[in-house]
Amino acid sequence: MEEIKTNKAVLFDKPKSMVETVADYLRKSIIHGDLKPNEKINLSEMTEKLGVSNIPLREALRDLEHEGLIFSVPGKGNWVTNVSHKDVEESFVVREMLETFAIELISRKAKTGADFKERLEAIAGKTEGPKFHDALILLAENEKLFDIYNTLSMNIHRYQNLSFNILKKNTFDILEHRNEHSLILEALMKGNFEVAKLKLSKHLETVKNELLKYLGVWD
Ligand SMILES: [Zn+2]
Repeated sequence: MEEIKTNKAVLFDKPKSMVETVADYLRKSIIHGDLKPNEKINLSEMTEKLGVSNIPLREALRDLEHEGLIFSVPGKGNWVTNVSHKDVEESFVVREMLETFAIELISRKAKTGADFKERLEAIAGKTEGPKFHDALILLAENEKLFDIYNTLSMNIHRYQNLSFNILKKNTFDILEHRNEHSLILEALMKGNFEVAKLKLSKHLETVKNELLKYLGVWD
């Protein structure tokens, strides 16, 4: 069973339970679009496929419901949630707040003399794709922030993959995206934290608008 790289257990080197392993599998299936919006989760098929009993599966489904990836109707079953403009708008507002706050925490650490440059250089090679955003959150070195962000981030990755799978092409301008990451990183390196925050906000606005353009498919 392949696991998602942003998983907390992997990043913080904690052992993973059966429930977490099953939850990771389901999460990945939803994010990649293997399980589609509004699709009913077939429990017996799933337990057979994963070789687990009903108990960890049900618990994993509860975790995913908490993350907003599935919803359940008592006595009837579990379904993959649909995606909407509202979800994306709301997710990005919170995401901007969390990522900007990460820069604020980074700036406080930099001012108190932590070895800031070395840690920044460690993420310099991650300017491509969502890894850059994950790295920003990690740099803030606050596990609670990481937990909140990661829950939200599952939804963000899911939207990107869904639009990609349905349209069979990735319309995001990868080079431009990477360039914007480099500009944010450059501002951080120079200690221009306010500039970094502004550039980050502008970048997220662009990404959100790109995403919304293609989410029209489900409205
Ligand atoms: Zn980005």
